[in-house]
Amino acid sequence: MGVLGVFALGNTATVFAKSGKGTPDPYFDLILDENLANNVYPSKKIADIKKSEHVPLGVKHCTPELFEKYRNKVSSGPAKWTMARTINSGVMNPISFVGCHVGDMESYDDFSEFWYPLIEEYHKGFKVDAPKRAEATTAERFDINKLPELTPEATKRIVSTRIRCARNLADFPLNPGAKSSLTRHQILQMMEMVYDQFPTDFKGKLYKHEVMSAEEREKLVSDHFLFRGKDLMQASSGYHEHWPEGRGIFVREDKKFLNWINEGDHIRIISMEMGSDVKAVFNRLGQGACLVEDGIRKIAGKDNVEPVFMFHPKLGSVTCCPSNLGSGLRASVFLKIPNLIAVLGFHEIDRMCRADFDCQVRGSSGEHSEVKEFVDVSNWRRIGFWEYELVTDMIVCSNHLAKLEEELCSLSKAKLAELKQKKSLKA
Ligand code: ADP
Ligand code: MG
Repeated sequence: MGVLGVFALGNTATVFAKSGKGTPDPYFDLILDENLANNVYPSKKIADIKKSEHVPLGVKHCTPELFEKYRNKVSSGPAKWTMARTINSGVMNPISFVGCHVGDMESYDDFSEFWYPLIEEYHKGFKVDAPKRAEATTAERFDINKLPELTPEATKRIVSTRIRCARNLADFPLNPGAKSSLTRHQILQMMEMVYDQFPTDFKGKLYKHEVMSAEEREKLVSDHFLFRGKDLMQASSGYHEHWPEGRGIFVREDKKFLNWINEGDHIRIISMEMGSDVKAVFNRLGQGACLVEDGIRKIAGKDNVEPVFMFHPKLGSVTCCPSNLGSGLRASVFLKIPNLIAVLGFHEIDRMCRADFDCQVRGSSGEHSEVKEFVDVSNWRRIGFWEYELVTDMIVCSNHLAKLEEELCSLSKAKLAELKQKKSLKA
């Protein structure tokens, strides 16, 4: 969709990306909270959000004092990012978990009093200024032999496995901070050249959103391969601006290795397959990530030391959302635990996974989606740990959830019905 502009809506100024349809579409256009659009702290709205059970991290960390301190500051990077843009998504969507993001790497340091504590809270165990761990090679970080085993109880309940990492290119502006759709197009074009040079065993097809048919898109989304678009939280982060320009997905012939282009971050490198072979999926991700990096290096004419991906000395791989900083890795399984869902409920399972296992659960078709037959169990933190350690978090958590499900399955029908009844009464 179109260019960012300022329009008067009633008495309030609201900034949005003109969709060309007359009225802004909250599912795609960037709409700013009316106070934030005027660079004013949205006190009333934030006070109301803070009274509710759930507060997005961005809202929690943006005190009036901090907003005031940074109010007239713009980031030193290309986006000229502001606090208003930083927290808009959480203010507009109080159900979001993180609800804040950057438009350039420099923002993380320029607004450090906001970002550093927030990053440390999200990535439990990570300290921004703590000495870094000794470097490890890619082979060491992706070592499948360091992973624990899934238990038979977990294995039989796993529908599919997916591990992805988020990357942004060093030579292009982060998407929410890009001034036009041009860079999204350039990235897609460059990646097309990279995929053209992939070795035979990684060959596949690049589908571009501007060209693919609605049926192709729907099929890729419902098969869990493609991002959905049309997401309120992503729209108010500016992720959907200029939709569908420059978006695409690369799918290897066997559909077990995929890349999202310009969903939010520039590239999501994804390895997935049906079943529970976490080691195979992890191994393929390591191989594919190297191919992508080497391929870009070659096409961009970079030498061996020039960075391909955007990298922050303290925060590792840079992503628009603080939740993906560092490794950008999210390892997940779809786990069938219907009794546990009925007895504990999704939110309690999620709380337990976060508190005890540094993991989270999501719905059956991606973040912010409903739980249908199964939950998506994944590591929650991504920074300060090697990739195999994060996959380990997910395996340990899945083993535990499967054990709880097994215990429920061993109860008498009457006892199980009683537990489910108690839960539904509480709800
Ligand atoms: P991401 O963290 O990569 O942005 P999302 O939560 O947005 O992931 O989900 C993206 C897509 O990947 C959704 O269609 C989701 O259902 C699918 N997905 C996630 N985990 C798995 C899995 N273990 N198996 C199959 N599909 C998965
Ligand atoms: Mg996502």
